Formats: sequence, C-alpha cells, structure tokens
Amino acid sequence: MFTSIIFILILSGATIIFYRKVRKIRRSINLGKDIEITDNKPLRWRRVLFIAIGQKKMLQRPVAALMHIFVYVGFIIVNMEMFEILIDGISGSHRLFSFYGKAYGIMLSIFEIITLTVMLGCMVFLVRRNLIKVNRFWSKEMTKWPRSDANIILITELLLMSAILIMNATDGILQTRPDAHYTQVGSFIISGIIQPIFSGLPSSSLIIIERFCWWFHIVGVLVFLNYIPYSKHFHVFLSFPNVYYSKLRPAGEMVNMPSITKEVKFMLEENYSDQDDDNEVVTFGAKTVRDLTWKHLMDAYSCTECGRCTSSCPANITGKKLSPRKIVMDTRDNLEEVADKLFNKKSSGKDDKKNTRSLFDFISAEELWACTTCNACTYECPVNIDPLAIILEMRRYLVLEESAAPGPLNNTFSNIENNGAPWQFSQEDRMEWAKEFMEKQKIDVPVMADLFAKNEKPEYLFWVGSSGAFDDRYKNVVKAFVKILTHLGVSYAVLGTEESSTGDVARRAGNEMLFQMQAMMNIELLNGYEVKKILTCDPHAFNTFKNEYPQYDGNYQVIHHTQFLKDQIEAGNLKVKSLIFNKKIITYHDPCYLGRANGEYDAPRRVLNFIPSEKKEMKRNKSNALCCGAGGGQMFKEAEKGDKEIFIERTEEALETGADIIVTACPYCMAMITDGIKYKDKVEDVKNYDIAEIVSLSLEI
Ligand code: SF4
Ligand code: SF4
Repeated sequence: MFTSIIFILILSGATIIFYRKVRKIRRSINLGKDIEITDNKPLRWRRVLFIAIGQKKMLQRPVAALMHIFVYVGFIIVNMEMFEILIDGISGSHRLFSFYGKAYGIMLSIFEIITLTVMLGCMVFLVRRNLIKVNRFWSKEMTKWPRSDANIILITELLLMSAILIMNATDGILQTRPDAHYTQVGSFIISGIIQPIFSGLPSSSLIIIERFCWWFHIVGVLVFLNYIPYSKHFHVFLSFPNVYYSKLRPAGEMVNMPSITKEVKFMLEENYSDQDDDNEVVTFGAKTVRDLTWKHLMDAYSCTECGRCTSSCPANITGKKLSPRKIVMDTRDNLEEVADKLFNKKSSGKDDKKNTRSLFDFISAEELWACTTCNACTYECPVNIDPLAIILEMRRYLVLEESAAPGPLNNTFSNIENNGAPWQFSQEDRMEWAKEFMEKQKIDVPVMADLFAKNEKPEYLFWVGSSGAFDDRYKNVVKAFVKILTHLGVSYAVLGTEESSTGDVARRAGNEMLFQMQAMMNIELLNGYEVKKILTCDPHAFNTFKNEYPQYDGNYQVIHHTQFLKDQIEAGNLKVKSLIFNKKIITYHDPCYLGRANGEYDAPRRVLNFIPSEKKEMKRNKSNALCCGAGGGQMFKEAEKGDKEIFIERTEEALETGADIIVTACPYCMAMITDGIKYKDKVEDVKNYDIAEIVSLSLEI
C-alpha cells in the first residue's frame, strides 16, 4: 500500500511537470505569426507515414538509419512493458500479465532481444560520436550542452535497458527460490544468459537488486520523459506534426509576402484598393522569432541536431561560417529566451520585443549571405525542417527594413530596376546577340511584338534570359538552342528588347519588393501576348515562372530546354547519332534549381544517353549534387570568407571523374564551372558545354 502511494505520487508529479513543459513549448511555438496549413491532407499523412514513421530520409545513410531504427523503434516497443510496470506500481501487484502464461514468456523474450538491439544502437552511436568523432558531431555549434545532451540520452538509455535485463535475470532466479515467493513465469531469453552472474547471491540481496532495478527503470523513464522537452530529443514527439505541416510545394518556390504584394499593387495599378486594409504596421522579413511563423518555430523545436543539413551545405563544406543546423538551433535558443521572459513575467507581450535579444544577436549577416539557396539542407533533413526559409526571412529583413544588403547586391538590384538585367547593360541591347547570328547563319529569330502585329501567335515563348542576352559565353548556348528550334521548325518567338529580369536573384537575395515588381510587369507583358508555353534554358527562370509567378496569376506551361530536347529526341525528331563525342568522357552537373528545386534529374541524363560517348557520374549527383556556388545572389557578390570557393570544390569533383567534358544546363553553373576549369588550369584538356550545345553539335542534319 505504502509503495503504491509513493509510486502514484511520483507518477503524478512527473506527469504534471511534463505537461507544464510541453504546454510552455506549445505556447512558445504559438508566439510565431499565424499561417494556415490545411491543404492536401492525404499527402501530408503519407509523408508522416513514410518520413516520420518510416524514416525514409534516414535510409540515405543506411548504417546510421539501421542503428536509429534499433534505438527509436526498440525503445518504444520495450517501453510497452511499462504498461505492466505502471499497473503493478499502482495496484501493488507483481507481473500482473503473467497469467497469459507461455505467451507472456515469449513476449518478454522478444522484448529482451529488442532491448539488446537498443543497447547495440546506443553503443554504436556513442562510439561514432566520441571515438570515431564523425565530423558533423564536432562542428562549432556542437560544443558544451548539445554534445553532452546526446551522450546523456544515450547513456541513460543504456542504463535503463540494463536495468530491465538485470531485473528480469534476478526475478528469474528468485522464482526458483521457495523463500522468495516470486510469481512463476520462467526465465527469458537474454536475461537467462546473464543469470549465472547473480545466482550465487542470497535471496535477500537478489530481492534488493530486483526491486532497485524495477524502481530505477520506472523512475528513470519518468525522469527521462521530463528531460526530453529540454533536449534535442523532443523531436521524438514533434517530428510527426513537423513532417505533417512541412512544405508540399516544390522546394524552389519561395513563399510570397502578401504585405509587399499590396505595396507593389498600389504602385503599379492605378485603381488598386485593398478592401481588407487594416493599416497594421508589419515588419518585412524577420528580426525576432515573433516575426517568423509558428511553423518556423516548430521547425526549431523539432531539430535532432543530426547535422545532415550542415554536412551537405556547400557553404559549410567550403569552410564558411554558415551552418543550417546552427540557424535552426539559434532560432530555438532565441525563442526559449524570448518565451522565458514573456511567460515568466506574465507580461502583456506587447513590449517584449524591446527587452529580448533578436535573431541577429545569434545569427550574423555573414552567415546569412553565404547561403546559395541550393536546398541541400532542406532535402537532407530527416524531419523536413526548412532552415532556408528562416535564412530568407532574415535576408528580407536586412534588405527591406535595413537596406543592408552587401554592396555588390545593391548594385545588382539597381541594375535590375533600371536596366531589367542584373548587369549594367541596356535593355535596348537585348537582341544584340541575335543580329550577327541571324546574318551569318541565315536564321531568323522571331520577335513576339512583330508576330503579334501580324496577328500571329507562336506556340512557345523562348525566354532568352539576361545571361543569354549579355554573357558572351552563354550567348553561344542560346544560339545553339535557337538552331535546334529552327531545325525542328518550332513555332516560337522571343521578347527581344521587351524582355526583363524575372526577378529571381532579387527574391532570393531578400529584395521581395523588386522581385514582385518584375514579376507583375512581366506577367502583364506575357498575358498581353497571350503566352501559354514558355521554353527556357535557365533553371532559375524555369523555377520562377513555374512555381512563383502563379502567386500573381501568371500561369504558364514552363519547359526547361533539357525536357524539350529529351521529348524531341525520344520522338525521333532530332537525330543525334554523330560520333563527335564518341571517345569522350562526359560528366553532368545537376543545377540546384532544376534538380533539388524541381526534381528534374532524368531529362538531361536521358538526352546525354543518346549521345555516343562515355558517361560518368560525379560522387555527389542528383539529389545529393553539390551546388556550383552561384545561386541565391552569390553570382553577383564576393563569396564569404572560407577555405575554398564552392565552384572550385565542384569543379574538382567533376575533374575527379576524368571527364573531358563537363556538361551543364544552367547559365550560372556554366559561368562557375568555366571559371573552375580556368582556375584548375585545365582549359586545354577539359571543356564545359551546355546540353544544348552537345545536342546541336551531335545533330545529323
Ligand atoms: S540552402 Fe544550401 S547553402 Fe543555404 S543553408 Fe541550405 S545547404 Fe547551405
Ligand atoms: S535541421 Fe534537420 S538535418 Fe539539420 S540538424 Fe536539424 S534535424 Fe538534422
């Protein structure tokens, strides 16, 4: 009776403390801005099933995945035994479910095997962290508490599992001692093996050990339960809702800012009036955790600190300060601090922005500007956390509220605003690339306005892009593609001098105002020409048209040139059997905005497979491909300090394949890889071609 009362008191106390902490975390998450996530529930549940429960993403690293499953699933199953322990504790019974007889024995033996696998998993993790010292567990943000936290959890799990085995072993011996009066359930498979260690002890000592292990296990589990909300291990609870609410849209799509849309519409539309205008003062972007949404804050609490994001981040790999894991951990630490002040003071919550530190006290501008927006971190995260979304919100704050973009990016913004291109070229010169080409090759490049004047509507708009119009090397790619279009007799036109930047760079660099202005002006132009299908060689334009312009009613069928070429070759319209590359080794570099951002890995490879040549993949390819280093505005600014430039790292990886030709399918990738080849002094031996050039050169005309 007395022990039952003690047990009930401990259980109730632990449950109340746990409930209070979880409630506080829930309130902290709700400090974020409200957003509604209610779409596509079946897909969300499928993700929970495969990613949160099935741990699909973990399988990319099979050994770690197997050990994680041992520890995670095993710990849950073994603790089902807790159900009996709880009832025993409350009622004062001993092994209440033993009346199931043989089935009970089999069940506990299975639990013991699983207990052993949990212990194996914990030991492997301890060795990986502390003896092998896997890099991602020893980086800068993984000192002090984060490092100890993982060890505390693993050692606690080992102790709890050991307690179960010792309890069962001593229990089994006591059943054979008539003086102990223990319920007869027999020995179990693993604890039976360790029984000889205890068999020489008197019954009184065995009872003390058995009871100690029983109490140690139950109290240990309750302490563990209350430790979890203070630890990264809170992900065992939050990973499920976090995966459920994670982004379903393509990774390349950046979230819209409706507050900016209003401003831009006021500027561009004479008769615009906002019915819901409540004159609320909004902060553009995020300065404090309360400027982020509740989903960003849920992300912060769901982080397992595994470092998969950081170990795949091109900026971090090349020695820059940016670590996506640190971004997420800093957000959580800042949120905890803000929530502590807010909840402990019982304040109204209105004045606390002044009294608490901001995200910028934790995360430096240097970290933020090192991001290439490559999405490697979001792709890798086993619980679908989106560190890039936090980086983008903070960039937006820096640009829109503080005008604090790096100098070269400010120049880029001015160029886009004034010339419609990120460089200082006049919009009037956007057709210069075609003039000489048209004369020499006797190829006509139709312009949309001319066709429209003749009442003709081409099937496709070919979006040349700023690189196509102004970058001397990339002009050749555009010309090669135009040759193919002409050869095929495709009905198309370009916008010529009416074309202007898509605004992709501006958006990713945080200048949402400029992006939306470009987007809305372009959409007006495109809709005016009744454009339905857009062809482009640029994955950034592809992503922006396909995923972001629909935010402003710009809806088009967008086709990347690799997809178009694949279809044409497979349909037999393009014969690419020339043996020009027959003896060459070709390696293909995946552009982030075609690959991870939009899931297109197949089309370019299928095109290349038609070209007689030897293909070799780089070590990091497809979804694991390393960024070239140019995205997210990096193309137009100096790289942050580090050990190496990203383009050099990527070029070295391409050269490791022994390739004669590095094939790209993006203007920025081409600029970066071409520079990389020059830097490595390989200009004589290795060429960089766009896929359109490879096809054009292989054509049997
Ligand atoms: S998007 Fe790419 S560069 Fe940016 S933090 Fe993630 S992995 Fe690093
Ligand atoms: S954000 Fe995701 S990948 Fe990065 S450390 Fe946290 S859980 Fe791991």
